[in-house]
Amino acid sequence: MIQFEQVSKVYPGGFQALKNVSFSLAAGEMAFLTGHSGAGKSTVLKLISLMERPTTGRVLINGHDLKRIKRKQIAYARRDIGMIFQDHRLLMDRTVFDNVALPLLIEGYSMSEARKRVQAALDKVGLADKIRHYPMMLSGGEQQRVGIARAVVNKPPLLLADEPTGNLDPKLSAEIIKLFEEFNRVGVSVLIATHDLSLIARMRYRTLTLKDGRMIDDGLAEEPA
Ligand code: ADP
Ligand code: ADP
Repeated sequence: MIQFEQVSKVYPGGFQALKNVSFSLAAGEMAFLTGHSGAGKSTVLKLISLMERPTTGRVLINGHDLKRIKRKQIAYARRDIGMIFQDHRLLMDRTVFDNVALPLLIEGYSMSEARKRVQAALDKVGLADKIRHYPMMLSGGEQQRVGIARAVVNKPPLLLADEPTGNLDPKLSAEIIKLFEEFNRVGVSVLIATHDLSLIARMRYRTLTLKDGRMIDDGLAEEPA
């Protein structure tokens, strides 16, 4: 699904955020990406979602070298990726329905088809009864679930989450992770960036670790006995 081949990223200004990073994530896999603040986690996600380009090395998605995707094709390529952010990035002056329907309407779905799909997505995250609410009327955990519904509404094969539980307490965080597990169970690949080690420690998922822009553990090596 995702393949990084000796990827380095130097931002304008000269800061090297990634140093020779190689890893792959198989289709249908769920993994965590961890490391201290500034380690390069968001940069990895931004390279996958074509918000940034590598300075050297290659990023491949489903075997396609992202370098070959032209500027004009970026929006199209992103349809296959559901993005979830720490601050959920909901439109606060729009209803839950409008927020979740947005990606579908941009893609040109009819309103009636969009209604069906939004309902299904909200059902999956347990918010079907909040469809007419405004985000302000929802708790932090509910707002994040709206963000997840928006990310999955057009059924992308890959979900990328950047500190999705950063503003949530441990109980709500666990519920959010459980949602990701449910999508993963039906075949969606999931990569979750987080510096919350206590969240990861309770689970048995593969954990990739960045330190100062280097991948110091790709989570594949066996633990020494
Ligand atoms: P993390 O998500 O692990 O906190 P990031 O990938 O966001 O790390 O950032 C890695 C490093 O790259 C940080 O030192 C950050 O300041 C720097 N960085 C991130 N984005 C930019 C940018 N657009 N321009 C310059 N430096 C950046
Ligand atoms: P910055 O590096 O300036 O923080 P952002 O991360 O805010 O850039 O991204 C810019 C905008 O692009 C955001 O509003 C975000 O919602 C949107 N975006 C980025 N990646 C995707 C994606 N894969 N699918 C849909 N929207 C995306």
